[in-house]
Amino acid sequence: MQKRDVVIIGSGPAGLTAAIYTARASLKPLLIDAPADAAQQTTPGGQLMITTDVENYPGFSDGIQGPELMAEFRKQAERFGTEFMEGWITEVDLSERPFQIYVDGGPTISAETLIIATGASAKWLGIPGEAKVPAGFGGNGVSACATCDGPLPAFRNRTLVVVGGGDTAMEEATFLTRYAAKVYVVHRRDKLRASKIMQDKAFRNEKIEFIWNTAVQEIVGTPEEGVTGVRLRNLVNGEEQIFPCAGVFVAIGHRPNTDLFRGQLDMDEVGYLQTSGHSTATNIPGVFACGDVQDSVYRQAVTAAGSGCMSALDAERYLDHLPVEMPSGEEITIEGEHITADRHAIITADGHMIPNDTEVPSDTEVSVGED
Ligand code: NDP
Repeated sequence: MQKRDVVIIGSGPAGLTAAIYTARASLKPLLIDAPADAAQQTTPGGQLMITTDVENYPGFSDGIQGPELMAEFRKQAERFGTEFMEGWITEVDLSERPFQIYVDGGPTISAETLIIATGASAKWLGIPGEAKVPAGFGGNGVSACATCDGPLPAFRNRTLVVVGGGDTAMEEATFLTRYAAKVYVVHRRDKLRASKIMQDKAFRNEKIEFIWNTAVQEIVGTPEEGVTGVRLRNLVNGEEQIFPCAGVFVAIGHRPNTDLFRGQLDMDEVGYLQTSGHSTATNIPGVFACGDVQDSVYRQAVTAAGSGCMSALDAERYLDHLPVEMPSGEEITIEGEHITADRHAIITADGHMIPNDTEVPSDTEVSVGED
């Protein structure tokens, strides 16, 4: 058993920023991240490890490569004494503090505060042929990461398909043109969701063409050759065709990695953790969430890093016995005192209410739930 004041799960921009701040505050954080595993889509360092040019992270006027940026984050977290542990977390028990974190084949970790920065993973279409080999062509022509798989010999000078209409799809398509003969972006509508600059870049690229109002119904091929084509359906006139290609890159967005916390932490219908508007507190006092795992809107490296900083400050405040705002609007302290959402009363851990109005003498005490 290891006892910690701060445990951070996840090593993307959010987790590592939380580590930099809490380590610098002498809280000796332990950061747990999953080993690299293609099937589980885990990459220490997070999604930036599978990104090439990062042009919009402030401070790098010439841009920086994603893996280089994450190596810097990690070095900075190490410099202030963050301890790292690699392992699969099998279960997290948040029913009481200290929280219990069970690591497969490792020690159980007992944590006074927990910062969740587990990020998000690529979504799949759920169509025939997409599953991993041997059930489908996943790993043999089907991928959700152009940076990881695009340079493979099987895709060089071939025709490839990218599915999706967002920034990820534009980025994947643009990157793949380094290797492919031609890249077709198949999108279900006639308008892209991607930002203007990414759209323009793709439109200008002579190797990229768009197939609009079309869904990929099936990925076809043979075990020997891998992917040989996709069955496309035009969503306007219903026409279907087999479109020949050597690879399919699915780029339709991401889903938050929150399975470990199901039934314990409040989530929205997609699975994003719900946090307070003014802090990164979840519904369980002492558990904070930052980065893509709680952000379905901005999802940028810089916003993830910003919320990692917020989580660290929230955890520090909480450990310093100061009140932290909960999603309910109440504020709560580590001793279990609540300040009501309207800020008019403090409810002590044993259920007594103390008026919080400055006009009322501070030694006035009222019991709640009693006549
Ligand atoms: P988005 O949610 O923005 O886009 C997903 C795309 O996939 C949409 O075009 C959507 O279609 C399509 N799609 C979703 N589900 C399906 C489905 N079942 N079948 C077919 N198509 C589907 O996700 P992204 O990953 O592209 O981007 C997420 C965030 O990350 C954004 O904020 C983006 O700006 C950011 N990002 C920034 C980058 C950069 O700046 N370099 C690079 C990559 C991402 P529809 O449009 O019809 O809904």
